[in-house]
Amino acid sequence: MRCLALNASFEPLTMVPVRRAVRLVIDGKAEIVEAEGTSVRSERLAVPRPAVIRLVKFVHVPRRFRRQVTNIFLFARDGYRCQFCGRSQHDLRHRECLTRDHLIPLSRGGHNGWSNVLTACSTCNTRKGNLLPEEAGMHPLRAPVEPHFVHLAWAVRRLTRIQSRYIKTFYGADVLRTLEGL
Ligand SMILES: [Zn+2]
Repeated sequence: MRCLALNASFEPLTMVPVRRAVRLVIDGKAEIVEAEGTSVRSERLAVPRPAVIRLVKFVHVPRRFRRQVTNIFLFARDGYRCQFCGRSQHDLRHRECLTRDHLIPLSRGGHNGWSNVLTACSTCNTRKGNLLPEEAGMHPLRAPVEPHFVHLAWAVRRLTRIQSRYIKTFYGADVLRTLEGL
């Protein structure tokens, strides 16, 4: 189980391992908002197992960090489907896998942002190589854009009931429903 970390403003930030959450509490950097389950022993202390913590000091999280493009979010955004041949993860053959492709290759000045990365099967990725889409004659099914709720959609899947209540409180029931439906 992981712990939902809220900013001092109560904005849900991320999920952290329980051990890390306990450390933050012991160090006085966070307070426990909700505990759930048996307590955790740390050093000589028994601490309630945190399900939701809130940072004591407000942390400014740079946008680029909050919306970091990891493959988990990237593949989710693209529906676990190669954006060139359209095959989904289940359609891939043995030894093929989903990868991250850069529309404009890094070696040609492309960046790692949402608008330049997309999900591609390893075969399409290899075929495209260091070519631009026009050069390779390979164009994505959908133009890549920054997603809205992918970060949270991923988090929601692992939230306990207590934790999802905080998401709902902060973002509203409609957003929670949307996220759960993704
Ligand atoms: Zn493909």
